[in-house]
Amino acid sequence: MEKLIIGSHVSFTKEKGLLGSTEEALSYGSTTFMFYTGAPQNTFRGKIDEELTKKAQDLMEKSNINIDDVIVHAPYIVNLANDKDEDKFNFAVNFLKQEVKRVKQLGVKKIVLHPGSHVGLGEEKGLENIIKGLNIVLDEKEGPIICLETMAGKGTELGYNFKQLKTIIDGVTNNHRLMVCMDTCHMNDAGYDITDFDKLLDEFDQIIGEEKIGCIHINDSKNEKGAHKDRHENIGLGTIGFENIINIIYNPRLKKVSKILETPYISTKDGDKDRSYPPYKFEIEMIKNKKYNKNFLNEIRNYYK
Ligand code: FE
Ligand code: FE
Ligand code: ZN
Repeated sequence: MEKLIIGSHVSFTKEKGLLGSTEEALSYGSTTFMFYTGAPQNTFRGKIDEELTKKAQDLMEKSNINIDDVIVHAPYIVNLANDKDEDKFNFAVNFLKQEVKRVKQLGVKKIVLHPGSHVGLGEEKGLENIIKGLNIVLDEKEGPIICLETMAGKGTELGYNFKQLKTIIDGVTNNHRLMVCMDTCHMNDAGYDITDFDKLLDEFDQIIGEEKIGCIHINDSKNEKGAHKDRHENIGLGTIGFENIINIIYNPRLKKVSKILETPYISTKDGDKDRSYPPYKFEIEMIKNKKYNKNFLNEIRNYYK
């Protein structure tokens, strides 16, 4: 049987580094994973621990995880589209350059990046800035690949259609180091009909080229198609639905692409304390079985309590 490359967002802590991320992924039954090299919402980053990294790589080798399928996500406050404040733009560029180095040290091959928000500068200027920034970040011929994420088009976000991503790719000199990370929730919210995924893949192929799909984020959506909202839902509980998600995951054209869940934690009350639990072990199980389990939220609460 063909290996299903499925995993989720996992944490990466200072104490446990890549080893902790790998162990967490394995505890969900994953064959890949994605992590931020620090907090998603800030740019404070520690040094990479070589010993923990080596241990993690050994563990991956012994398990069913190929490090080539593992993904790093750049922090979402990095905005290459905005050059109003020159210092901020330079900071974003330098941060990404450092991030590329960290990712290399970890042995990971792909970094997901939100292209950016033009914050009123206009789409054309925003795309120009992204290109300018990426040309500095990707000034070397060799190195990790940046996967531009398809966005929902919330606020002034860019990259909400394939044409914009194509414009960025065309503007970057070393664009063999650029790919795309599809996000099912974002594409739905951007207005794409993802219930006919072959048609969507055909469109992507015509504009960008199917071989450029580097990763896919698997999320249901809390909102209707075209809502431009970007609110992820657990699989089967949103407007996309379990059947459509299964069809995407098992589409033969995506066989070699990493599938990463970024669905929300399940919140619950434990006595008078608010707690939240990761849904991934249970969502991955449903995906492997291709069968929706109506009771999965309760099973998660019971499992972690
Ligand atoms: Fe993202
Ligand atoms: Fe995403
Ligand atoms: Zn999102």
